[in-house]
Amino acid sequence: PVAPRREQVEAVVKEAYEKFRNDTNGKNADYIPYLAKVDSKLFGIAIVTTDNQVLTMGDVKYAFSIQSISKVYSLALAMEELGPDKVFEKIGSEPTGRPFNSPVAVVDMPTHSGNPFVNAGAIATVSLISGSTADEKWNKILNFYSKAAGEKLVLIDEVYKSEAATNTGNKALSYLLAKYDRIYADPFESVDVYTKQCSVGVNATQLARMGATLANNGVNPATGERVIKAEDIPHILSTMMVAGLYDGSGTWAWNVGLPAKSGVGGGIVAIAPGKGAIAVFAPPLDEAGNSVKAQEVIRYVAERLNYNIFSPT
Ligand code: GLU
Repeated sequence: PVAPRREQVEAVVKEAYEKFRNDTNGKNADYIPYLAKVDSKLFGIAIVTTDNQVLTMGDVKYAFSIQSISKVYSLALAMEELGPDKVFEKIGSEPTGRPFNSPVAVVDMPTHSGNPFVNAGAIATVSLISGSTADEKWNKILNFYSKAAGEKLVLIDEVYKSEAATNTGNKALSYLLAKYDRIYADPFESVDVYTKQCSVGVNATQLARMGATLANNGVNPATGERVIKAEDIPHILSTMMVAGLYDGSGTWAWNVGLPAKSGVGGGIVAIAPGKGAIAVFAPPLDEAGNSVKAQEVIRYVAERLNYNIFSPT
């Protein structure tokens, strides 16, 4: 664990914060109107270790929408219910090489759904989660995320409304999946639950704790509760490695070597298995939809603390 190195970790996080805080590259997502209005200067870094040490810097109390990072935890929930083999058969785990919301990928990929972290695969993953009503599914999802965060999370209603009013592309994806029999519940209902899950509010510390739950083999290090089965963890982390940063995933793997997931709300969480997780929030995104500052900080910290999982030393 990071424990004996706490001072070193603190120093590196501080360096990264100072080095990148004035970087003005990238721009907020604007296809969801709410996100365009979030203060672009917000910047927070949080680390939670598997032995539950917490290190924070900057705007770590601000609740931003989790967006695509939710996909990791809905995948975990679907696996809890169905087991990894069934989920893999129904969704798949191939990088699409296309933008996260691509209908072309749905048409072209042999599995159509691609992987659980592109919108099509994520909507299909939500459709696998059991429940007799949409509300029941939604509550189950929110509850599961809250257990991973170790705190009760809530929907940011304004984000949900903003996104629900503009998500025609996701609705189209859901019907395209239906054409190929790759969605397993009502398409629009699945999109609605998916839109809610993307609108869950998290702050950087909560997100780091959700990540630390993965790093800690599925047990939340703050509450001691087992949230995810240990045998599901390698499947989740490997999917994060191949598809966690949209079509920037290859560059990320090359540069950083940590399983991670980004969201268009400006968050990225990266997992150092067995050690802990780092979450960074900063809204301006690059072309692929990944937070510019979050990538810079995590790369900087991971290099200095030698977290790359492919590094032999
Ligand atoms: N709710 C967003 C969408 O469906 C999530 C995208 C993201 O964070 O990648 O477009």
